[in-house]
This record gives sequence, structure tokens and C-alpha cells, in this order.
Amino acid sequence: MLTASTDVGSSGQWQTIGNRAAITLLNGAIKQQRVSHAYLFTGPNRVGKRTLAIDFARALNCNAQDIAAPGWSDLQPDPPCGQCSACDRIARSNFADVQIITSATQTSKDADPQAAQRRTMLGIDLIKDLQSDAILEPYEGRVKVFIIDEANRMSPDAANALLKTLEEPPSSVHIILTAPSAELVPETIASRCHLVRLRSVPPEAIAEALIEHHSVPQAEAQTLAKMSMGAPGWALAALNDPSLIDARKQSASRIIGVIRADLPDRFDYAFEMTREFRRDRMSALDEIARWLEILRDIAMLQNELNQHIVFGDRIEELSDLANKLTTEDIARATSSAQNTRDALMSNGYPQLAFDAMMLETPTVA
Ligand SMILES: [Zn+2]
Repeated sequence: MLTASTDVGSSGQWQTIGNRAAITLLNGAIKQQRVSHAYLFTGPNRVGKRTLAIDFARALNCNAQDIAAPGWSDLQPDPPCGQCSACDRIARSNFADVQIITSATQTSKDADPQAAQRRTMLGIDLIKDLQSDAILEPYEGRVKVFIIDEANRMSPDAANALLKTLEEPPSSVHIILTAPSAELVPETIASRCHLVRLRSVPPEAIAEALIEHHSVPQAEAQTLAKMSMGAPGWALAALNDPSLIDARKQSASRIIGVIRADLPDRFDYAFEMTREFRRDRMSALDEIARWLEILRDIAMLQNELNQHIVFGDRIEELSDLANKLTTEDIARATSSAQNTRDALMSNGYPQLAFDAMMLETPTVA
């Protein structure tokens, strides 16, 4: 492996794995003092959107040097330094001027924290809290940063309220939205944000980061990197929770079973997935990601690209499906799974989305 070809950060202490183009763009904005008031970071699940937003918030508030001083960038390494109190506390979510807002963030109107945990949408109360905070001067940092995670889950009135802030942002406020794609955010919002697209990270870059920064043995790092399908967040989560690897294997077995099953069993599966989505949204979305991987593997086998398949341990069952299904079957099932994923991400009805997917998944004769 050539180090020059890898995609791991070397300038500044960015925690983001891969996506050097996005880091370079954000670094450049800081150096040229042309940081926008609003950004929209898009990319697949667990690719590192939130991590990049936190990195950017650290870079904007890093105390290692006075960024406003002319010519500083010639003398100093790129922020974030990763050493100062601001860098450290922002990384630990313990900095008054950097806030991460999710649907589960407690609002000033919530009587008990449990209410927030049960919410699935980003409501207007969260945006109103943001607005009353945004008009205050930064408390301890250089600027205030609000990270709205999964902005695609904003309710229409929340989006309307946020629009007013984006139209006239306070001078020392930066708002970073994350979403799987710009199309899932209202056009009026997306058009006022500087769009930064994150892409799937090459497995070599993920493996290298696991080895260098997390002391993972090489063979394990390479396996995890391959399984992560370009999502470093999944690899890091699996490192801390090996049950995710088993869950992934069980998910593959279940999906192969569903492709072989008749319609009543498929609707049972759709019902279970709807329940799972309500219980643990991310886990249900991971299952859809597995569907796409399995379908991709079948397509690879149909094209005799056996060396590229992800679920090598299921090659016999997958080859059998590759023989029995047509390439059109796989293309239709893939777009159906993608539609289901998009519907779930933009507050569609989960039961309808899963039922439609079951109807459009080809049957094996
Ligand atoms: Zn710093």
C-alpha cells in the first residue's frame, strides 16, 4: 500500500476519515476568512458528516493561534490543533458555543427528557431554541456553531422557521446541516447553504485509520474496512460493539430468506421491519443498506465478478439467486430498496414503504 495514495488526514487534527476534498475546502474557507454562515453536508449513513461538522466547529474555535491575525496561516499548522481546551471540549460535546441538534435534543418546552427520546422529527421548538440562543454573543468561543443533524427530519414549520435565520444569520453564527442528500432537504433551505458532498471512503483509508489511530491489528482492520462499505462510522461502531458484526451476518441470512419467501412471509417481514424502524431507526436503515449490498453481490455474480462480492461466506446461496433471477429483477429490486430508504429518511410511512418493497422484490421460482 502506497501512503501517498491514501486518504487519511495529515494537516491539522481532523478526526474525519477520508474525504480530503471536503476538508481542504473547509480549511481553505477558514484561511481565506470566507466561511459561510450555512453549510449542508451530505453523504451516506455513517460516512462522517457529523464528525466533519464537529471537526469544522473545532477548527473555527481552535485557540492554538489567532486566526484573525493576517499571515498566521504561513506560520502555523492548520487548525484544529487537537490540543487546546476548545478543541478538546468541542470533541467531548462540552463547549457552550457548539451545539448538536437532533430530533432527540431536549427543548425548553419538554417537561421530561423521555419525551425528547421518543421524538422522530425535528420540531419547531428546537429551531426556536436555536434562534433565541443565536442572537446572543458567543460565550466562550470565537463563533457559535449549530449542527443540525439529519436536517431531512425537520418538520415543515421547523424548516420555515430556520429559513428566517438562514436569510439573516447573526454575524458570529454558523449553521451546519447534515442530510443523506440535498434533495431530502427543502429546496429553500438547501439553496441557502454551501453544499459539501461527502463520499464513501475507500476501504484502504478506513483500514489505515483503524490501524494508526485505533491500534487495530492489520487483518482485523482490513476485514472491518471491507465490511463497512465505505462508512467509517460503521467500522468504528463495530470496533466498540462486535455484536454489530453478528447482526450484519444475521441480517444477510434474513434477507436471503426473504428473497426466497412467499408473499405472506414477506409481509410478516415488512411488519417486523416497521416495528424495528420505530424502535431503532438506524438499525432499520442499516438493514436496507444490507439489502442493497446483497442485491449488488447478486449483480456482481451475474457478471462473473466474484472477487468483488462482500458476503463471500454466502457465495453458494447468492450464486443460486444470481442464476434464478434476471438482471432486470435485480435492477428493479435495487431501485425499490433505494426508494424505501429515501421514503424512510424523509418521514414517509414505514409500513407502506416496506410493503411496497416486498411487492417489488422478485420471487424465486
Ligand atoms: Zn485547538
